[in-house]
Amino acid sequence: MSDHVTHWIGGGAHEGPTKRTGDIYDPASGRVSGTVDFAGPEEVDAAVAAAKEAFPGWRDTSLSKRVQVLFRFRELLSAGADELARLVSSEHGKVFSDARGEVARGLEVVDFACGIPHLLKGGYSENVSTGVDSYSILQPLGVVSGITPFNFPAMVPMWMFPVAIACGNTFVLKPSEKDPSAAGFLARLWKEAGLPDGVFNVVHGDKVAVDAILEHPDVAAVSFVGSTPIARYIYRTAAEHGKRVQALGGAKNHMVVLPDADLDLAADSAVSAGFGSAGERCMAISAVAVVDSVADDLLERIGERVARLRVGPGDDERSEMGPLVTREHRDKVASYLESGVREGATLAIDGRAHPVPDGDENGFWLGPSVLDHVGPRMSCYREEIFGPVLSIVRVADYDEAVELVNGNPYGNGTAIFTNDGGAARRFQNEIEVGMVGINVPIPVPMAYYSFGGWKQSLFGDSHAHGTEGVHFYTRTKAVTARWTDPSRRPEGGVDLGFPTNG
Ligand code: NAD
Repeated sequence: MSDHVTHWIGGGAHEGPTKRTGDIYDPASGRVSGTVDFAGPEEVDAAVAAAKEAFPGWRDTSLSKRVQVLFRFRELLSAGADELARLVSSEHGKVFSDARGEVARGLEVVDFACGIPHLLKGGYSENVSTGVDSYSILQPLGVVSGITPFNFPAMVPMWMFPVAIACGNTFVLKPSEKDPSAAGFLARLWKEAGLPDGVFNVVHGDKVAVDAILEHPDVAAVSFVGSTPIARYIYRTAAEHGKRVQALGGAKNHMVVLPDADLDLAADSAVSAGFGSAGERCMAISAVAVVDSVADDLLERIGERVARLRVGPGDDERSEMGPLVTREHRDKVASYLESGVREGATLAIDGRAHPVPDGDENGFWLGPSVLDHVGPRMSCYREEIFGPVLSIVRVADYDEAVELVNGNPYGNGTAIFTNDGGAARRFQNEIEVGMVGINVPIPVPMAYYSFGGWKQSLFGDSHAHGTEGVHFYTRTKAVTARWTDPSRRPEGGVDLGFPTNG
């Protein structure tokens, strides 16, 4: 579906002077479907300048008018959801229903942002001193930027910009160069919704564009979502340049299965959360920490389900799992099957043997795979695979499972499967992970809660969307005011003492 994708600056397409481009692929066929312009400092400058120029007008636009634009954007997005999902599927490879799900989750953040007047209310205290009132107001930061990963080209940007824009900021988005078209689609919807030119801008590209954003003096804040090494780099570099920054990183999400769990539910969940979107979700289940006494039973049930999974192109409605995003990524994921076996794991299900769709032999295919008897020192356990591979780690009991999860450097999501309420409650209390599921495999919070992990899955203090998102995109000002009442004018002259309350 891609053709040539270029930047969106100041309310329209903008081809800058930089001549670097990248290829966009159809992951199902392996063919190049288009190209995308890569921004250099000139294009980033132009985008930031457009956003800076638009800021004073947008921040002073009344809340009612801002919300009207948001509601119009919401309606257009809702009407265009199928088209956007097809675009996402064609460049990412995920199946249409999954892409449709990501658009729906993004839409929920827009719904949340439509309630911004309530969220921007400050506090007010009357008579903090005689005749003096004090109140706080929340103000936007200015030009803010979002740098996003390939795996949710519609949803992850929508974790950021609806809230940022609703708060009165202007926005520069740098989406993944692997599936860039969704960003342009969203930019056109904003224009149609009546958002003033320059409030939402898109620059495409790679590290060159990212660095220009991180170093730009007129960018006040950076939101990032991507892998841990890049998140760490973004956090450090943006902070060095005086910016507020939230950088969400990679993950290694564990599912803990206790002996009293409903094993059919656990097997359904392992398969859907491990192989949905070909495992390319930051909340995908990657490791299954199962108590040994039920491990064989669980594995058998997973195997039955995997045998029925249909792997095929994202635009074929019979497909349940699509290809991986690039050939390079597919090969890297497959390499963990080899290293796992080399390091002592058993390859219980080999996705390389899964049938490849006819006519699409050059696509970036890898079927669902399961490694059993995985140990915590193996590279397939230590590293984020980000593909359709489940690692079964057999544990003796609950305590060993919790020790395993808490010993892992990542802390994005986790889930426990049990029918013991006491164990579940203890788990939610003890586990060092930002998002926890109880018999729910992908516990992605609703838009009015905030999304984010702990440990090396987040650099910074604020999670995305929800009240933490509003907090990230605003700063507070405390005002202390006296309006003299002529009938009660205070006596006495100038007092150089430190103001106290009386
Ligand atoms: P990535 O880190 O390679 O890229 C993310 C963004 O950073 C892209 O826009 C990319 O162009 C840019 N980038 C890449 N290399 C860079 C460099 N050297 N310097 C500056 N910028 C650079 O991530 P990805 O492969 O696109 O996405 C997958 C990763 O994202 C996985 O690790 C996944 O766990 C993570 N992710 C995390 C969350 C979360 O909420 N924690 C959500 C989605 C994805």
